[in-house]
Amino acid sequence: MIVAAVLFTYAVLLCTLAPRLLRGVQWAERAPRLGIVVWQVLGASALTAAVLAGLALSVPTVRVSTDLAELLQACVMALAAQYATPGGASAGAVGAVLALAVLGRVAWCTGAALLRIRRERRAHREVLDMVGRPDAARGVIVLDHEEPAAYCLPGRHRRTVITTGALRTLDDDRLEAVLAHERAHQAERHDAVLAWAQALARAFPRVPLFRIAEAEIARLAEMRADDVAAARSGRLTTAAALLAVAAGRAPAVALSAGGSTAARRVRRLIKPHRPLGRLRVAAGSLTAAVALALPLLVVGGPAAAATQMNYCPDGTPAAQVTTMR
Ligand SMILES: [Zn+2]
Repeated sequence: MIVAAVLFTYAVLLCTLAPRLLRGVQWAERAPRLGIVVWQVLGASALTAAVLAGLALSVPTVRVSTDLAELLQACVMALAAQYATPGGASAGAVGAVLALAVLGRVAWCTGAALLRIRRERRAHREVLDMVGRPDAARGVIVLDHEEPAAYCLPGRHRRTVITTGALRTLDDDRLEAVLAHERAHQAERHDAVLAWAQALARAFPRVPLFRIAEAEIARLAEMRADDVAAARSGRLTTAAALLAVAAGRAPAVALSAGGSTAARRVRRLIKPHRPLGRLRVAAGSLTAAVALALPLLVVGGPAAAATQMNYCPDGTPAAQVTTMR
């Protein structure tokens, strides 16, 4: 019961308190890639904790504990005692339902999101192939449109799209910055990162962690692509390029260079660049790794303790009880 309670409390704290503490923090803008990882880890850790809390409640039920004891070479009684709950079989059933409900909801929403994204991208790609003009030298599809805009349609059949308005507005250096921004999205698979964040936000729309993580990850992915472009073309050139295409529209399934966060990103690019130090990045990465491992350590601790027992609570050798069932 203690294990399940600890895991459940941990999941609730992550889902409610963590997003309030982390939303819009300055260090994430100085290391957007780490920021993306931290938001992803928090989501994965909260989900893992919720599922494991449910499973921990069902461990004392006979079938689960005997199978688990055999697997771990531990005494069934010792194992069941470690995870004992006052609710007995009812609590075990509630736990199993909780774990299955969380897993089922995530699987359903992720599957639905992936199918929808794939369908919308294919439809847009077919339109692009009809009305766009390939520019092999730049590796882009050129669209005849006055509005300066640039975006990439990610995935296996990726397309980078730029309008004639953008080609007229941007000089070579700024155009290279825009293209580097789009290539960064594709190289770092920001589409997959965003699809996962969107799926979790749809699966649990009332949970602040997933709702805020979706917006924060989208913002940080743009900043990360800006940084890659700035490393190639310079921060001021990238800022000027962003300004030129900021108002450009893009389909919902695409990743654009402009968008609603453009003004804040431009301000960030023209300020003196202060990337997060290596030590702080290492500390942040370590904290993320601990957060990811914590639910597994909490749920696995009592099982590990049971495997260390040579005798069952009634004095029978553990191996004997496990094998004599
Ligand atoms: Zn972008």
